[in-house]
Amino acid sequence: MKIRCVQGDITKVTADIIVNAANTSLLGGGGVDGAIHKAGGKTILEECIKIRNKQGGCKTGEAVITTGGLLPAKYVIHTVGSVWNGGSNNEEELLKNCYSNSLKLAKEHNAKSIAFPNISTGIYKFPKEKAALIAVNTIKENPIIDEVIFVCYDDENYGVYKKLLYMFV
Ligand code: ADP
Repeated sequence: MKIRCVQGDITKVTADIIVNAANTSLLGGGGVDGAIHKAGGKTILEECIKIRNKQGGCKTGEAVITTGGLLPAKYVIHTVGSVWNGGSNNEEELLKNCYSNSLKLAKEHNAKSIAFPNISTGIYKFPKEKAALIAVNTIKENPIIDEVIFVCYDDENYGVYKKLLYMFV
């Protein structure tokens, strides 16, 4: 398994699957969620609505899959990160579940590569260094996809991931 980080916009990344930091409604939102729906076109939202009608959205830590619409990726996995609320409300376990459940779903769809944004570290306010440690450790514990790319948008996350992936491996 190869793990690397890049800085940029995940909607431009070529990987079999990109992951969306969605919310429980699956109806789109701000941040990376808004960017994915905007770039991916309306079919992604239509598929999300179908899933929502069938199972009532997506719970925190769980993941669902749609096609990639107009994106370079074949599929989008929508997972719901945990909202940081002090740290004693199971936030870390739920964020870990986002990564492990996304990997499992990607494997079921025969993905060779998957790109993750820095789930929960925007509107959901998860501390960036803690979130990165959880992300990297969970990927290393589940080496089931050949290539994992962390797509960092802001400078702070990019710095944290570079330090974690390239200095302490
Ligand atoms: P959450 O609600 O899970 O915190 P956000 O979308 O608010 O989700 O933020 C998650 C991360 O996604 C943040 O680190 C933010 O900087 C980043 N982000 C925002 N837009 C993009 C994008 N187009 N590509 C990749 N990452 C993005």
